[in-house]
Amino acid sequence: MGKTIIISNRLPVSIQKKEDGLSYTPSAGGLATGLGSIYKSGDNVWLGWPGLYVTNDSEKEEIALNLKNENMAPVFLTKEEIERFYEGFSNTTLWPLFHYFPSYTSFDEGYWETYKLVNQIFCEETLKYANNDDIIWIHDYQLLLLPNMIREKLPNASIGFFQHIPFPSFEIFRNLPWRKELLEGMLGSDLIGFHTYDDVRHFLSSVNRLVGLDNKMGELRVEERICMVDSFPMGIDYSKFDNAARSENTIKEIASYDEFLGDTKTIVSIDRLDYSKGIPDRLLAFDLFLENYPEYKGQVTLLMIVVPSRDQVELYRQLKVEIDELVGRINGKHGKIDWTPIRYFYRSFPFTSLSAMYRLSDIALVTPLRDGMNLVCKEFIASKIDQTGVLILSEMAGAAKELSDALIINPNNLPEMADAIHKALTMSEEEQIRRMDELQSVVKRYDIHNWVQLFMRSLDVVKEKQHEMSVKQLSNHSKFELIEDYKKAEKKNTFS
Ligand code: UDP
Repeated sequence: MGKTIIISNRLPVSIQKKEDGLSYTPSAGGLATGLGSIYKSGDNVWLGWPGLYVTNDSEKEEIALNLKNENMAPVFLTKEEIERFYEGFSNTTLWPLFHYFPSYTSFDEGYWETYKLVNQIFCEETLKYANNDDIIWIHDYQLLLLPNMIREKLPNASIGFFQHIPFPSFEIFRNLPWRKELLEGMLGSDLIGFHTYDDVRHFLSSVNRLVGLDNKMGELRVEERICMVDSFPMGIDYSKFDNAARSENTIKEIASYDEFLGDTKTIVSIDRLDYSKGIPDRLLAFDLFLENYPEYKGQVTLLMIVVPSRDQVELYRQLKVEIDELVGRINGKHGKIDWTPIRYFYRSFPFTSLSAMYRLSDIALVTPLRDGMNLVCKEFIASKIDQTGVLILSEMAGAAKELSDALIINPNNLPEMADAIHKALTMSEEEQIRRMDELQSVVKRYDIHNWVQLFMRSLDVVKEKQHEMSVKQLSNHSKFELIEDYKKAEKKNTFS
C-alpha cells in the first residue's frame, strides 16, 4: 500500500511574516477538515503553494521543515508566476469562462505559457514524493494539466481529480484556444469528479467532440486505461455548524445583535466579492420586494456580508463600487430614522459571528448567477437547530440539485425573487419545519466526511477494474501465444 498525496493550488495554512518570525494559521475551511483525516496520517502529504513569496533559501528550508511536521510540503512560486498563472490564466480565463461569463474572459497566450509552466513545477515537486503505488488526489481548475503530467512519469499511480467550479457546456468551453490540451491534461486521471451531473454531462460532451472519445455510463477508455467521470456533491462539516449554533458563544453573540436588529425579520446574505454571486441583482430584488410589498418596510432587514476578494482586479473593484452605490441608493430610498433596510458589511467575520447570523436569520438569500456548489446555503441549514427558517436558493448553484425543499428561483428573474422573499416571510411554521427537516437530513447525511470517503472509494473501484482489465488482457495474450506455439510445434512435427 502506497501513501496518499493531496495536491491543490493553496496549502490549508496561511503563513505570515511577523516581527518575531513566521506565523502559521491552519485553514478552518470544510475541505481542509475533510481532507485532514487523510493527509495528517502516516507518510501522507498535502502539496501546494504556501501563500507567500519566498526568495531566501534558508527561509524556504525553514518553511519546508515546519510544514513537514504538519504533513505538508510547499510548492514555492514567484510573484510573476502567481500573477500570470493564478491571477492571470486561472482567474481571468478559466474562472469567468467556466462560470458562463465569456465577455469577461481573457485569452492571453503568455498566461497560458505560465499556466503550463506552473503545472510542470507542481509535477516536479510531486515526483519528489510520489511513487507508482501511491494515490494522488488533485484539486481544482488551477491544475487541469497536472493529472496527465504525473501520469506520463508514473503510469500506474492512482490519480483522482476533483473540479470545485462548474464545467461549462461545450458551446462555452469551445471558446478556449487551449481546450484540447486542457481536456487531455484532465484525462490523465483515473477518476474525474464534479459537483453535479450537469457538469459531468458537459465534460463528457466536450471530450467526445474535441478528443473523439465515447463514454459508457461515464466510463472512458483512454488508450488502454479506464477513466471514470462521476458527480460527487461536496458537503460541509455538519456537526461543526450544528454544535456552534447550540454553543454559549453563539447565543451571547445573538443577544448582542438584538439591539440593532430589534424585532424585524432578518434575511442573511453572505458571499465573497465575485460577479458570479449575483449580488447586484439580489439587491435589486430586495428593492423590488420593498416596492411591491411596502407593508414590510420597517419589518425586514437584509443583513449583507460581502467578503473582500480579488479587489485589486479592476472588474472586482467596479463590482464593489456598484454594490456600495446600490446599498446607498436602496437605504436612502426606503430607510427610516429607526430602520435601515440593508445592514451591509464589506469584511470577513469570525466563525462565531457567522454561526450567530445563520442561527438568528429567518431567511437565507443565496442567489448566485452561477456557482459550482455553494456552501453558505448548507451552513445556514446546519445552523437552524430549531428547524424554522427558509432558504431561497438559485437554480444556478450546484447545491440546488440536492436541496429541492428550498424555494428555488432564477437569479435573473427579479420579480420571482421578490415574490420568493414574500412567500418565505408568510410561510407557516409547520411548512418551514417540514422543509427544513428534509434539507437537514440531506446536508447531514452527505457531509464533507462522506464526500471524501465516497471519492476515495470510487478511485479504488476504478483502480480494481483497471487491474482486472489488465489481467484479462494478459491472459488473452497468453492464450494467443499458446496457440501460436502449438501451431509452430505442429509444423515442426510435420517436417520432422
Ligand atoms: N466565510 C468565511 N468568512 C466570512 C464569510 C464566509 O470564512 O466572513 C466562508 C463561508 O463560511 C463558506 C465560504 O466562506 O464556507 C464560502 O464558500 P462558498 O462555497 O459558498 O463560496 P466560494 O467563496 O467558495 O465561491
